[in-house]
Amino acid sequence: MDGSNATSGAIDVRSDTVTRPTPGMRAAMAAAEVGDDVFGDDPTVNRLQAVAAERFGRESALFFPTGTQSNLAALMAHCGRGDEFLVGQEAHTYKYEQGGAAVLGSIQPQPLEHEAHGGIALGRIAAAIKSDDYHFARTRLLALENTIGGRVLPPQYQREATDFAHSRGLATHLDGARIFNVIVKLKVAEPTATAGFDSVSVCLSKGLGAPAGSLLLGPRALIADARRWRKALGGGMRQSGVLAAAGLYALENHVQRLAEDHENAEYLAAGLRAAGLKVSVPQTNVVYIEVSPAQVAGLKAHLQGRGIIATVAPRTRLMTHMDLSRAKIDVVIQAFREYPHWAH
Ligand SMILES: *Cc1c(COP(=O)(O)O)cnc(C)c1O
Repeated sequence: MDGSNATSGAIDVRSDTVTRPTPGMRAAMAAAEVGDDVFGDDPTVNRLQAVAAERFGRESALFFPTGTQSNLAALMAHCGRGDEFLVGQEAHTYKYEQGGAAVLGSIQPQPLEHEAHGGIALGRIAAAIKSDDYHFARTRLLALENTIGGRVLPPQYQREATDFAHSRGLATHLDGARIFNVIVKLKVAEPTATAGFDSVSVCLSKGLGAPAGSLLLGPRALIADARRWRKALGGGMRQSGVLAAAGLYALENHVQRLAEDHENAEYLAAGLRAAGLKVSVPQTNVVYIEVSPAQVAGLKAHLQGRGIIATVAPRTRLMTHMDLSRAKIDVVIQAFREYPHWAH
């Protein structure tokens, strides 16, 4: 075996980004052939991009240091100054990227309410598309996210929403930071999971366990534009083959194992429910629990005392990942069970 980190180190349930590269991944990074990727001659980056484009059935792929930059470069490639994109209120590209589209891209976001499944109702999309009028920004793009808050978009919704957007002349972008969780959950291939989207951003640094890196996938011309924006945004890296090697290793070795994270999330949810907590039904690797506001500080300290790192809030998010073994999850469940101040 590749010696994962699941049995050593801290018990960190804040996110699936907290994983450390495994010994096998570090060996692949150490052995990577490299060159200067700004000149396009890092062979490992080029191989990662080719492998990813092939796997997702896309013309072209581009390696980015982060998903935030990949999403932003995509938005800037789709939309010009004064254009608008439609996006969910809770979407990463709207809420969690420091307003980058507006601040750096001069692109107006039109945030819309979500449906329970995480998508945006077609009627809401239709109503938000502005007519050709010099008062209005030009609506150019629909951006969706999958998974969103750990939920998998229903494939039928994905088909209808992207078809509808295209029928109204909009382009479509998928923030697929956690698309591999969708692929494993639905047991579909990459092209099926991302069907209907003109561009797709995927993270290697979430459940896949790479230390950094995202990929933007799409048509050749769009990716060429995104490469220009990547340079402007400071994302042109040099011997980034050491990072791409981790990404290649993750694509080969860490995709199917996401099923384990999903099972562990169900196991964690069941244990917490049995302890009397209000717990969401996880679809992938995310579990939400309700914590009364009065208990937030006390619970955080209690967990800390047990060696558990968690972001405690009224709606606390716990995430499973490759550095979180069953034994560690048992420690988490036990700690919650023994918290003395539950206001049930
Ligand atoms: C993590 C994440 C991103 C990208 O985040 P970076 O930290 O910039 O890599 C984008 N979208 C979603 C939904 C994410 O979870």
